Amino acid sequence: MTQAQQLLEYIDSSPSPWHVVESTVALLQAHGFKALSEKEIWQLNAGERYYTIRDQSSIIAFIAGSKAPSESGYRIIGAHTDSPGLRIKPNPEQKRGAYLRLGVEVYGGPILATFADRDLSLAGRVSIKTGRGAQAFESRLLRINESIVRLPNLAIHLNREVNKSGLKFNPQDELPLIFSQPGPDGGSFKGFIAERLQVNETDILAWELAAYDTQPGAFSGLDQAFITNSQLDNLASCHAALLALTKILDQSNPATQVIAFFDHEEVGSSSAKGADGSFLSDVLHRISTTLDDTTQGHHQAIAHSYMLSADMAHAWHPNFSHKHEPEHQPIINAGPVIKINTNQRYTTNAHTEALFVSICEDEKIPHQKFVNRSDLACGSTIGPMSAARTGIRSLDVGNPMWAMHSIRESAGAADHHYMIGAMSGFLRC
Ligand code: ZN
Repeated sequence: MTQAQQLLEYIDSSPSPWHVVESTVALLQAHGFKALSEKEIWQLNAGERYYTIRDQSSIIAFIAGSKAPSESGYRIIGAHTDSPGLRIKPNPEQKRGAYLRLGVEVYGGPILATFADRDLSLAGRVSIKTGRGAQAFESRLLRINESIVRLPNLAIHLNREVNKSGLKFNPQDELPLIFSQPGPDGGSFKGFIAERLQVNETDILAWELAAYDTQPGAFSGLDQAFITNSQLDNLASCHAALLALTKILDQSNPATQVIAFFDHEEVGSSSAKGADGSFLSDVLHRISTTLDDTTQGHHQAIAHSYMLSADMAHAWHPNFSHKHEPEHQPIINAGPVIKINTNQRYTTNAHTEALFVSICEDEKIPHQKFVNRSDLACGSTIGPMSAARTGIRSLDVGNPMWAMHSIRESAGAADHHYMIGAMSGFLRC
């Protein structure tokens, strides 16, 4: 199976950030990574592989370097597990005429129009009561496989301006998802969830459920050069980092190699498990003090370290070329894109950019450079917050893609292969 095919399968098995962590753990365990709980005392050995999870949707995995962190530092690849979309409200049921629809909150900044007329379903986690007492509950992952919710378009006859003015939804009134045509004795949403989890309805305490597209990933274009799926932003970066890390397992490396995937990037990263939270700095500090045992060791380790913040980039779109900076037009299947922004929306600087260019040259991997048009506002990534929190030199890199934040995004098959090569070069540098 090609690496691009593996990516599509990884996304298909990861319809929510909680499932992303589950799929990631499956891959890590298959490669001998051992689980660490943040609640326990850690004992680490040089060369061994570990991972730790915070609240089910952020995960950090690492291979302890052959040298102490104070001597060789960390090589960190960061990415995010979440994608923008629709999340089911706590009391979602809204009866309108003959239909039961489910109220949704908009999570992050999706292109809402792309959710219309898709075969949507639901995935996420549900908290189930397991006994008496405040902490007697467990979190269960839930994935409804068949399409169970839908956002039908309005016919063009009732919305004549749609092709001129675009498809717009009022998130409160026009975005709820059609769930059922309830009979006289109801058939509630909570009852449906309880049945799927084989629990009593009264034992369901809470949920976080995302709408996802049931259509599996696919290749498209002549020679199947393009890949299409939901969540390419940013599961393509997570998967590339995972493959890069598992590709270099047989090579002993002085630096401790880390991959860190965070939830909540799409809503600003400011949470206990987000990139603007303490997760990464807590884990690094813990590794340093466990492997090094000196008070200054961690500070030395940070000074020796590099972070590659991996998030997807905007490919030049031939139908909208005026949206791009004419001299910086990332092309799909032409290699990783180094993202540069002088206002520090991206962390890349001349030093870290030079490092990445050298890695690409060594690995014979093409690379491209991106800056936004000077008259357009620039997006951002987990990079600036992670760099500010940890004090680690950093850069922002990502593969070029189209339709970022659509429920059906597209990118290049060859780029995935290039990115894995560049990332494994980075982890070994
Ligand atoms: Zn992203």
